[in-house]
Amino acid sequence: MQALVLKNVSKSFGGIDAVSKVDLTVMTGESRALIGPNGAGKSTLFNLVTGEIPLDEGRILLFGKDLTREPVQKRIASQLGRTYQISNLFTQLTVQENLFLASWQTRRKKASLVATLFRSWRKFDNQRRYLAKIAHRVGLADKLDTTVDELSHGENRQLELGITLAHRPRILLLDEPMAGLSAAERIFMTELIMSLKPEITVVIIDHDIDVAFSIADQVSVLHHGAIIAEGSPEQIEKNREVQQIYTLSRQSKDSDHA
Ligand code: ADP
Ligand code: MG
Repeated sequence: MQALVLKNVSKSFGGIDAVSKVDLTVMTGESRALIGPNGAGKSTLFNLVTGEIPLDEGRILLFGKDLTREPVQKRIASQLGRTYQISNLFTQLTVQENLFLASWQTRRKKASLVATLFRSWRKFDNQRRYLAKIAHRVGLADKLDTTVDELSHGENRQLELGITLAHRPRILLLDEPMAGLSAAERIFMTELIMSLKPEITVVIIDHDIDVAFSIADQVSVLHHGAIIAEGSPEQIEKNREVQQIYTLSRQSKDSDHA
């Protein structure tokens, strides 16, 4: 079954084609890496899939349903989850409180406020156990009562992933989940993401090719908003055009820093 399908999707910002005529199919249970130099259009592509920004052209389907014109909330209800490059947690609240709020918000959409509060009270123990399980899964079992501002950067990212998992997504879009992590935190996060499959279809953006290749079954390469190559990590590694793009972008980065 197809988890995510993009057909001829385009988006421009003031004349710049951020995403240009993209066709993409991700199968259920697959893990796909989306790589490409800075400014290639990777995050914009995610924003189009979630509906955070409207597309100019094209169609987007999730698990066979056309969601091109549906609002963000409807897409989340279709079991789409995502994380962001920039963190948005409640820093004064604890890990457990952040998880609780996130799961409460989702259930609220399905019921009236009073019904939700009543159910929350009745099911509080269940809910607590469920959230503790999530916290355990993302390596924060002993941090449930710690406030977010006391967590390390890596733990922040683990919590963000936990919050997304609490919504029980079937497909997860991860935007640079390793950014700013220490070596040990990267290993933990890589293993965590690997443990999600095949129940959860994963699309991961990472500018570190090694990370993307270690996680993904299939890789799509974006350059100037267009997909220029697609294949297994081995195929992409050997692809001349991809090698050139990465060498060029590395050189321009080096000269920026010089
Ligand atoms: P990536 O995530 O691959 O680094 P982005 O999707 O963030 O790339 O950006 C792709 C291009 O679109 C860039 O040229 C960027 O400056 C531009 N862009 C992204 N978001 C916006 C926006 N909200 N308004 C204007 N330009 C944008
Ligand atoms: Mg980005």
